[in-house]
Amino acid sequence: MVVRWAAEMFGFPPDATGVLVTGSSMANFIAILTATRNVVDGQDMRLHGIGGRRLVGYAGESAHGCVARAFDMAGLGEHALRRVPLNAAYQMDTLALERLIAQDRTDGFEPFLVVGTAGTVDTGSIDPLNALADLAEREGLWFHVDGAFGALARLAPDLAPLLAGLERANSLAFDFHKWAQVPYDAGCVLVREPGRQAAAFAQSLAYLSREDRGLAAGAPWFCDLGPDLSRGFRALKVWFALAGFGTEKLGQVVTHSCALARGLAGQVQTSAHLQLLAPVTLNVVCFRVVTSEVEDLDWLNGELVKDLQVSGIVAPSTTRIGGVLAIRVALVNHRTTEADVTILLDALHSFMEVRLAQVRMLKLVEEQAQA
Ligand SMILES: *Cc1c(COP(=O)(O)O)cnc(C)c1O
Repeated sequence: MVVRWAAEMFGFPPDATGVLVTGSSMANFIAILTATRNVVDGQDMRLHGIGGRRLVGYAGESAHGCVARAFDMAGLGEHALRRVPLNAAYQMDTLALERLIAQDRTDGFEPFLVVGTAGTVDTGSIDPLNALADLAEREGLWFHVDGAFGALARLAPDLAPLLAGLERANSLAFDFHKWAQVPYDAGCVLVREPGRQAAAFAQSLAYLSREDRGLAAGAPWFCDLGPDLSRGFRALKVWFALAGFGTEKLGQVVTHSCALARGLAGQVQTSAHLQLLAPVTLNVVCFRVVTSEVEDLDWLNGELVKDLQVSGIVAPSTTRIGGVLAIRVALVNHRTTEADVTILLDALHSFMEVRLAQVRMLKLVEEQAQA
């Protein structure tokens, strides 16, 4: 039922297959393996490995590290994942993608997959999903979307249009344990066309023979749709979240987090000592402290993030945007309010004062030592 609800949430057909897994890392891996089995002679590949086939896939430079890892684990090799440059909005540049595909075909490679990201980790940007779906259709590629947290924005009426095209994907990976507020772990993979996922994973072992009724009924089993045999009842907690809160409430959480993010970005932009480093699409705000008193701003911002984390007050992370270190704030919790954003900025300001006082002191000591 949870998998069917998920299919409905994302505009997949009701007979789409899916399975609940640890997280989007595993969900992306399953989708990518399913895609490799979708190429010509997929069945043969399952028996003999990819042996010599020069399969290549494509993802934006901002794709999550687990996509490259999936290529590695699938035996394709990380280099078989081509990293497509981004445009000014931190989305995959589709023209660059087309050029890469053409070049690869010329060089004798077999393009088979394009991975779009709906909600990149670094900036929350969304790849142009409709354009990617068109291109995948034209080029005969499997179109997978990593929507780990961002896919859930489909539940928010104000943000859903940003995800147009998501419903055209051949497969989707996303997490209930991010914006859907479900406790870890609760990832999910959906595959549009029935039969594809089972074709990639089902083993017809004699002791697992399927029956029309009794304990061995109900094929395909979840072990036919991924690598796990024994698994926990993840669907129960997801069922409670969906049945208890409802998708409308979860959509409101998404709308609320994104409004907080826009508010924070606005405050950053009006502050003399803060600099916004990337446009805010969803719930991620990347910015940094700037001051003429410190030469190495990466050092300063890195120390400030650690100061904040260790203080226990707030927990931003870091990333690199355009070559500089960014303070990355990702707002996901339904209990986070504007007051928390104020606490974050106040704490950042206090720690900055402390760091700058240290810097001034050191300068003074150095000057005196020279004098
Ligand atoms: C979180 C995230 C992942 C990894 O998901 P896990 O649930 O941690 O395995 C992959 N891609 C994106 C875009 C993410 O935000």
